Amino acid sequence: MFSRGCIIRLYVSAGAGDIRIFYFAGIDEKVLAADSLNPLHAGKETMINEEYISMLGKKSVIRELSEYATARAKEIGAENVYDFSLGNPSVPTPQSFDDTIIDLVKTMDSVSLHGYSPSNGLPEAKQQVADSLNRRFDMDYTANHIFPTSGAAGAIAHALRAVVRPGETVLVFAPYFPEYNPYITFTGAKIRVVPANFRDFQVNFDVLDEYLTSDVAAILINSPNNPSGAVYSEETLQRLFDVCRAKEKEYGHSIFIISDEPYREISFDGKKVPYTAKFYDNTLTCYSFSKSLSIPGERIGYVAVNPRCEKADRLVPVMAQISRGIGHNCPSSLICRAMGKCVDITSDLSVYETNMNLLYDTFVRLGFTVVRPGGTFYIFPKALEEDANAFCRKALKYDLVFVPGDSFGGPGYFRVAYCLDTDKVKRSLPVIEKFVRSEYPA
Ligand code: PLP
Repeated sequence: MFSRGCIIRLYVSAGAGDIRIFYFAGIDEKVLAADSLNPLHAGKETMINEEYISMLGKKSVIRELSEYATARAKEIGAENVYDFSLGNPSVPTPQSFDDTIIDLVKTMDSVSLHGYSPSNGLPEAKQQVADSLNRRFDMDYTANHIFPTSGAAGAIAHALRAVVRPGETVLVFAPYFPEYNPYITFTGAKIRVVPANFRDFQVNFDVLDEYLTSDVAAILINSPNNPSGAVYSEETLQRLFDVCRAKEKEYGHSIFIISDEPYREISFDGKKVPYTAKFYDNTLTCYSFSKSLSIPGERIGYVAVNPRCEKADRLVPVMAQISRGIGHNCPSSLICRAMGKCVDITSDLSVYETNMNLLYDTFVRLGFTVVRPGGTFYIFPKALEEDANAFCRKALKYDLVFVPGDSFGGPGYFRVAYCLDTDKVKRSLPVIEKFVRSEYPA
C-alpha cells in the first residue's frame, strides 16, 4: 500500500559534473484527489505495488548518466560531450534488413503479415534460426527448439522462468550486466554473485565451489561480456561445465546454463566466440539481434533450447505458457519474419575493434590496469583511485561520461562503452589524457 508521506528516493543530475541525490517526500495530491472520485477507489488509498515503487529510487546508473550526457549536450553541443555511458549501437542497420521489411510489406498479404503469430512463434522464422545455428555451430536444432522473444531481455525472462522456481538461486559471475538483478529477482528467484576474477575476467574458479551450493538451479553467463569485454575461452567453459556436471551428480538435480549472447558477433582479432551450448547439454542460449543488426529498438531475439537438454521438446511450449503470464505473446510478426530472412547478416561491426584498440592503447600508455577485451563494445579499466564513483565524477568535469563499476559488481573499476564514431573516440583521447594528467599527476 502506498501511503501518504512515503519517501521516494530519486537520483538526478544537477549542473555540470555534479551528480546529486535528492529525496522527494509525499505523492502527487492531485492524483489522490482524482482517485478518490473513482467510486471503486472511494475511501481507499491508491494501490500501487511497492516493489516497483522502491525501484524508482534505484534507477539504472547507466541510464542516469546517459540522461545527464544528453542534457549536457544541449548545453555545450553534442560534439563536446564524450558520452561513453550507453550500449547503444553506433553503426547503421544493414540496408538489406530495411529492404526485407519493405519487401514483406509490399509483397505479403496484409492480414497474414500483420496477424497474430502462433504462441510458439512463427515456424518459418524459427526454422531459419535453427538452420543458421546448425550451419554455423554444428548443432542439430529444429524449429521446435527456437522461441522468438523481445530481445535478449525477453529471452532471459522466459529461460529463467522455464528452469528456475521461486526461492531457488541463480548464480552470476561479476562483473555482470546490472539488469540481471531485476531479470532474476522478479521471477521470485535469488541472485548470487560470484566475485570477479580481475586478472583476466574469466570465471573465478578459486571461489566457485563456495558459491555453487545445492540451491543453485541455474547459472546465467554472458560471453562476450558486458562490461569487461572478456570472451570465455573453451578452456574456461570446459572447466566450468565439468564442475556443473559434478555438482549435478552430487546434488541430484540439474543445473541449467542460461547463456546470454547478444555480443556473439562482436569479437576481435579474427577469433570466433566459442558456442556455449556445444559444451554443455542443459544450455538455453539467449540471443538478441540488438547489437549484431543495430536494431535494439525493434526488440527481437530468441531462446535456443539445446536439443540434448533435459525435456528439450517441452521447453518451447513451456515458454509459450510463460508468455501468457508475463504478457509477452510473441514479438512483432513483421520483425520476426525479417529476422528469419536476415539471420546470417550483420551490420559492419569493425568500427568497434578500431575503437577498442584506440582506447586500450591510450589506457595502457596512461598507466591504467586494463584487460584487453576480446569482444563487445565495452572496456573495463581499473580507476585511478579506490572509489570509481569519485573517479567518474572527476571525469565529468572534462565531459567524459564513464560508468562506475559498482553496479556491475566491479567496484574500483569503470565501464567505457565505445559504440561511438571513431572520429569522436579519437577526439576523446587527448581529453582523457588531460583528465588523467590534471587529476592524477604522477
Ligand atoms: N544482456 C546483456 C549483457 C546486455 O548488454 C543487454 C543489453 O545491453 C541485454 C542482455 C538486453 O538486450 P536486449 O536489448 O536485446 O533485450
